[in-house]
Amino acid sequence: MKINIQSLAVAGVRSLQPYQPGKPLEELEREYGISNAVKLASNENPLGPGKKALAAIGQQLGELSRYPDGNGFSLKKALSKKHGVNMDQLTLGNGSNDILEFLARAFVAVDDEVIFSEHAFAVYPIVTQAVGGRAVVVAAKDYGYDLDAIAVAVSDKTRLIFIANPNNPTGTWLTEKALRDFLEKVPAQVLVVLDEAYYEYAIDPALSACGYTSVMSWIKDYPNLVVTRTFSKAYGLAGLRMGYSVSHADVADILNRVRQPFNANSLALAAAEAALDDEAHLRHSVKLNAEGMQQLTQAFEQLGLDYIPSVGNFVCVKIGDAAGVYEALLHAGIIVRPVANYGLPDYLRITIGRADENARFLDALKKILPA
Ligand SMILES: *Cc1c(COP(=O)(O)O)cnc(C)c1O
Repeated sequence: MKINIQSLAVAGVRSLQPYQPGKPLEELEREYGISNAVKLASNENPLGPGKKALAAIGQQLGELSRYPDGNGFSLKKALSKKHGVNMDQLTLGNGSNDILEFLARAFVAVDDEVIFSEHAFAVYPIVTQAVGGRAVVVAAKDYGYDLDAIAVAVSDKTRLIFIANPNNPTGTWLTEKALRDFLEKVPAQVLVVLDEAYYEYAIDPALSACGYTSVMSWIKDYPNLVVTRTFSKAYGLAGLRMGYSVSHADVADILNRVRQPFNANSLALAAAEAALDDEAHLRHSVKLNAEGMQQLTQAFEQLGLDYIPSVGNFVCVKIGDAAGVYEALLHAGIIVRPVANYGLPDYLRITIGRADENARFLDALKKILPA
């Protein structure tokens, strides 16, 4: 008897579309026979990790035969000091994506509803569907979140609301008043997850007029509020996988029950703690990003290209034939990110690189675009 193995998977997983990562540099160089490619596709820090993080990793190497500290005591202590929260409010993840998955596993049963926005981060639908939850996708407003419409979409089946602030891939952000009004409206039994993966870029004093705010300090007012942060972006440690959430201690207790005992590895724990203590590298990273954002957006304006104003380390530019331009850029050794799967078929998302990388992208783009 022949069986269809795939039909054995649980319903949510059977229909799951896997996450499409940015094309790795090595893959492009192999496939196209080129060298010196530039990757501006995955919102990575173009400076790499800081010296303190690298030194901490070096010191840990001799201990790799040991299991990591499953409670991450030392990193949690540093985070609790940084954020002024108790250690029992923290949950560590193998990347903050790990936390998003804990939230779905711990709080969403089959047919429960999870709300997120159109053009939101691709991991939200994946973690929702994997547990058999029903995704309620609310239309975006000006490429950003329509918090009024999201509040209206809440039903007695709603368990979670995912909000990225700033949002990826659009780079849009939410202001203090909009968030406060929204949190006042959401029923206390619905968890609201504020994904602040790009927080460090958005709080750049140069952007203070934009009105961005973190809600980290509001957790004491809203026990249903969960804030996630990551070391993958401004801290330059994407390859190590380290993220965390801050929440009410009762939420953290639940999240820590579904967490695997050693989900955060020892190199990541040590590097993250050292990175927290490396203000200089963080400041350098954010400054380079602000300069690169200006370099790109000024060039877009000169070229007559529309873009979505962004407070992250990436920007979506309207290209028209985005798929064709993406391919042509690959041939020129430059990887950017098509965002058709985010409902933005006319756009490409460009991660801000170093000045020389941005210039190579712009030179290639000018050659590709019709004169
Ligand atoms: C990059 C990103 C993250 C971070 O994921 P990690 O698992 O911490 O690497 C989280 N949320 C959004 C919206 C992102 O773009």
